[in-house]
Amino acid sequence: MKFTDFGFDERLMEGIDASGYEETTPVQEQVIPLIMAGKDVIASAQTGTGKTAAFLLPLINKIITDPHEDHTNNALVIVPTRELAIQIAQHMEGLSYFTSVSSIAVYGGVDGNAFVQEKKALSHGADIVICTPGKMMSHIKMGYVKMAGLKYLILDEADRMLDMGFYDDIMFIIDSLPKKRQNLLFSATMPHKIRELARKILHHPEEVNISISKPPEKIKQEAFIVYETQKIPLVKHLLSNSNFKSVLIFCSSKISVKQLTRDLKRAKFLADEIHSDLDQSKREEVLIQFKSRRLPILVATDILSRGIDIDNIDLVINYDVPHDGEDYVHRIGRTARAAAEGSAYTFVTVKEQRKFLAIEKLLGKPVPKANVPEELGETPGYNTGSSNAPASNRKFSRPSQFKNNSRR
Ligand code: AMP
Repeated sequence: MKFTDFGFDERLMEGIDASGYEETTPVQEQVIPLIMAGKDVIASAQTGTGKTAAFLLPLINKIITDPHEDHTNNALVIVPTRELAIQIAQHMEGLSYFTSVSSIAVYGGVDGNAFVQEKKALSHGADIVICTPGKMMSHIKMGYVKMAGLKYLILDEADRMLDMGFYDDIMFIIDSLPKKRQNLLFSATMPHKIRELARKILHHPEEVNISISKPPEKIKQEAFIVYETQKIPLVKHLLSNSNFKSVLIFCSSKISVKQLTRDLKRAKFLADEIHSDLDQSKREEVLIQFKSRRLPILVATDILSRGIDIDNIDLVINYDVPHDGEDYVHRIGRTARAAAEGSAYTFVTVKEQRKFLAIEKLLGKPVPKANVPEELGETPGYNTGSSNAPASNRKFSRPSQFKNNSRR
């Protein structure tokens, strides 16, 4: 789904473009329309799913377009740790860069100067306040926090906040808010105590469940950081120097599928293609060939990533970085099925690095980076800092050797 489908304000769209977001993630697709419609939402979504933008985007849009009182804090985002508060504030800065929506992060462990600034902002009223529970409670107790016009409450990583013992602090903060407001609760898990909390805070909430399965441990995952022009030579190199008997290569577009298959055939690899331009009988024929291992290399669009049961694939190559973590897990899940072991290689170009970082975040650990053979030339670096870089740094401020057995 495209972000243009939500009818967001133009200034917000500029921030989305500048952040490099092209399509929505599943949690965004489901949650944004509900928030826009004014519903309370309880969503189970882990870090890495794009949940932050799922609530920030509709909030920013509402603050730009709905009439609201000045000199009051408008939205309160409560999070468990200062690191998360800082990260959300950076996200916020990037997405709202072209708007006049204001925000402040309020968290513990900062010096007196920061406290004075927080006090000033909270008593004057910021559009979006991102805070840790303890620190916010201290400010509220001092009596100057303007809450009378507050319209939105967001609890992020609610399960972690309860595990950290913040229940009483959270309830104290909520007691100081107006009763009529929109409430959103995000949590990676949904234990009984979270349901209880939701029952106390949310009004007839809509429930969204984005559970991402992790790939099996036995899949050997590697990423190659490359330039676009190095992709075809690298596929050929990997296939020529390997013992893989059944290789599935995923491309994001039909054009790349056709081009890569043509190149592989020219180089005398036993490869064929599958995509939606082929009629059903041709697709079935290719699949039968591949399943029976008479065809060792199949190049496919995402049509094949879900649901189709093919056993014994040794290697999955992501010729392009999949759209999101869910797609990545589905694609590489084609290998190492049942008891077998398998490998999954992902080619990551400079443009795709941010998307791949988001996937790594979702997986909870970096995917090991493999060396590209020297004869393919110099490769780009991998910029692990880019996704969390402060807004001012971003665009808007202005293998081993394998023996070949797959050749004809
Ligand atoms: P989160 O789950 O909110 O921590 O987001 C994980 C990462 O995904 C962050 O680095 C975001 O900048 C990035 N992200 C969020 N939404 C999108 C999107 N629609 N397209 C690409 N990247 C995104």
